[in-house]
Amino acid sequence: MIYKKNRFYIEGISSEKISKKFGTPAYCYSYKKLKENIINFKNFFKSFKPMICFSVKSNSNVNLLREINKFGLGADVVSIGELMKAQKAGINVNKIVFSGVGKTTKEINYAINKNIFLINAESKSEIIEIEKIAKTKKKIVNIGLRLNPNTNPQTLNQISTGKKENKFGVSEKTFLSLVDYIRKSNFINLKCLSVHIGSQILSHQPYEKMLRVLDRVIKKSRYRFEYIDLGGGMGISYENNLKKLNYKKYNIAIKKFLKVNKSKIIFEPGRSIIGNTGFLISKVIFIKETKSKNFIILDTGMNDLMRPALYNAKHKIIPSIKKNIFSKSKYEFVGPICETTDKFSTLTKFQKLKEKDIIIICDVGAYGISLSSNYNVRPKPVELLIKGSKIIIIKKREKLEDII
Ligand SMILES: *Cc1c(COP(=O)(O)O)cnc(C)c1O
Repeated sequence: MIYKKNRFYIEGISSEKISKKFGTPAYCYSYKKLKENIINFKNFFKSFKPMICFSVKSNSNVNLLREINKFGLGADVVSIGELMKAQKAGINVNKIVFSGVGKTTKEINYAINKNIFLINAESKSEIIEIEKIAKTKKKIVNIGLRLNPNTNPQTLNQISTGKKENKFGVSEKTFLSLVDYIRKSNFINLKCLSVHIGSQILSHQPYEKMLRVLDRVIKKSRYRFEYIDLGGGMGISYENNLKKLNYKKYNIAIKKFLKVNKSKIIFEPGRSIIGNTGFLISKVIFIKETKSKNFIILDTGMNDLMRPALYNAKHKIIPSIKKNIFSKSKYEFVGPICETTDKFSTLTKFQKLKEKDIIIICDVGAYGISLSSNYNVRPKPVELLIKGSKIIIIKKREKLEDII
């Protein structure tokens, strides 16, 4: 991910070459970055060897899941579709955990039939439903129970999940009463306490707070949890100079927690594994000049990358070929979709662009293609995996015939 002779390269391939060969918009992923992220993640927590279940909703490309499986990671899924994709990618069911507040009977049935590692239940109703299904199958089902620790993750409101007003998990009081309920059940085995307080978390402090809540709740429950699932949420740097999550301090807090609680740890990282591996290559269709700013109208929009429209997320935009001439006007990068929120960012300083130029939107590996849609009847972009000097098509560009 560097400029060589002013051309942007993803590993051994220039973005110019990709745009010429595969057209735009194109999602590209760097294999090297993916590998690095997984190795780093494992290293951060190597002293207690956690089970790592990749959050499939962050990117559910089957071929990427295959690569992730090769590094030994499991999967955290939130629907039957994701579960099937994880299986298709070769991920063993004994490494799959199933989260989510609204699992249907069909989904619970499927998960139980497949003997997945854990169903992370999020309500009393769900537990009763799991128990009912387990009973008809005469099975004992392993579950996790998701606690809502009422911890502010200090991230965007839209991606906070661990505050008491959020729909996720159960309150401490409900948690304790459910532990007692499950103790008496012949068909459910409570194997795990799970939490996930939010996404794009950049401070270790919410995690420390969360662990203190866990400590307290576990003590009160007088239950020995074989596993503690701490969820994901580790943030990445979308903008230069943005602060970084201090993994060392998070690791220290967990080690302290483990001295008191002899459990195995599960993580469910998504963004921190796949986020910075992805690049969205796009072409400037038109430049519309106005008095106050110039609209750079791209051939990609909120249908391909929804994060900016959905929660005002910022992604770095860089030119495919670097030039040292800067624009005098302000640039607003927008998509072709008929929505005002279809814009990526407004920049006061950018190199001068002309129509048909190629630009790259960075760090789109997580919640990029997985949140994409066919809105405005637009086919989804091609997805490419770059491995050194090799380009592998991991998902073909959708054809208009596919969606009409
Ligand atoms: C979305 C989600 C994750 C992954 O979050 P990241 O911020 O991408 O690491 C993990 N666990 C659960 C339950 C989730 O809903």
